[in-house]
Amino acid sequence: MKSVHGPITIAGAGVSGLTAAINLAKAGVEVHVYERKKEIGGRFLGDWQGLENWTTVETVQSSLSDMQIDMNFDCHAMPPLLLTDGGALQMRCSFQRPVCYLVKRGPEPGTLDQGLKAQALAAGVRLHLGQAIEPEQADIIATGPNSREVFAVDKGIVWHTQLPDMAIFLVNESAAYKGYAYLLISGGYACLCTVLFDRFQAVNECLEKAKSMIGALVDLDIRAPRFVGGLGSIALETAFKRGKSLLVGEAAGIQDFLWGFGIRTAMQSGYLAAQSILHGADYPEMAQKAFHPRIKSGIVTRFLYDKAGSWPSGYKIMGQLAGNRPDPGRFFQHAYKMTVIHQFIYPLARWSMQRKYPKLRL
Ligand SMILES: Cc1cc2nc3c(=O)[nH]c(=O)nc-3n(C[C@H](O)[C@H](O)[C@H](O)COP(=O)(O)OP(=O)(O)OC[C@H]3O[C@@H](n4cnc5c(N)ncnc54)[C@H](O)[C@@H]3O)c2cc1C
Repeated sequence: MKSVHGPITIAGAGVSGLTAAINLAKAGVEVHVYERKKEIGGRFLGDWQGLENWTTVETVQSSLSDMQIDMNFDCHAMPPLLLTDGGALQMRCSFQRPVCYLVKRGPEPGTLDQGLKAQALAAGVRLHLGQAIEPEQADIIATGPNSREVFAVDKGIVWHTQLPDMAIFLVNESAAYKGYAYLLISGGYACLCTVLFDRFQAVNECLEKAKSMIGALVDLDIRAPRFVGGLGSIALETAFKRGKSLLVGEAAGIQDFLWGFGIRTAMQSGYLAAQSILHGADYPEMAQKAFHPRIKSGIVTRFLYDKAGSWPSGYKIMGQLAGNRPDPGRFFQHAYKMTVIHQFIYPLARWSMQRKYPKLRL
């Protein structure tokens, strides 16, 4: 039975807010979404992002369909991956199913953001662009990362190129402190970024280093580049509710502590919030069940990744552990579950990560 009487207000038209809005509007609810940027996707500038397809047995297509989201945006399976440490390690990784689909972010046609906008408008959502609202006034707070709880910073460039499709993943401390850098090329469009999980102030130096290390493998042919980037935030000690408002996406601290792949879980949280409003269910309880084990397993895997980077050949060992499996995708599915091994390491990992990131509520 529906428990919805009046219009629902959502602060933020990112992926979590729009997923909630689309589901509510499709169920016949009047929905108003307020977005402080003048256009949907205004937070991004045309970078390739990955819609991950490795954390669950269920494919991302099937999970989007369950969330009533159509794939009306440009979406390409990630090209075969070359994993390198910028030195002797160069591993070609092949996967039984695509580990990731590339989607463009930003206000341009074909992006994930514009696809969601079209679906929202078709469902009857009323968008109020260029209008910020106080988050606490909204029924759903979907305002994205919290700048006081940053765990990762991403900076890079995008440009048009003649190069063929490719994906290079670089793990090297001087190109990305405790993180990774990558080159993604699809359909004549390239994106090269570094993602730092430490020493954020060094992001420009790391980007230059990433360019030169990846440039040693491929003649990058960079023309008229545009800068892209942003930050990611995470929190574990969150109630998923503030006053009467439900918290979704990164505003709720839902993120992937290992690599920062937050799109799918942000959308899932928007979907759950909509379901809870429609059916009178307890959203904080649902969200805790869905996301806390993942955030906790992320604390463990981030701790291990962090430590691996401190050993001369740590990333190499990790790469080989994952890459030498017949189906590396399955290896990563386990990495995102709170297994017995995770539970055993968790207290130490949490203590260590709390010391390292004192501003995070872990
Ligand atoms: C550079 C970069 C690369 C990334 N790459 C990947 C990737 O490859 N794969 C992946 O899965 N994830 C990636 N992420 C993370 C992913 O983009 C986020 O986790 C996801 O977009 C979070 O969605 P959200 O709906 O919570 O917030 P957002 O997408 O940030 O949306 C929040 C929206 O709220 C608006 N807003 C904020 N305050 C207000 C207010 N008071 N009133 C009205 N509107 C407001 C903002 O303008 C924004 O549009 C990346 C992030 C960055 C920064």
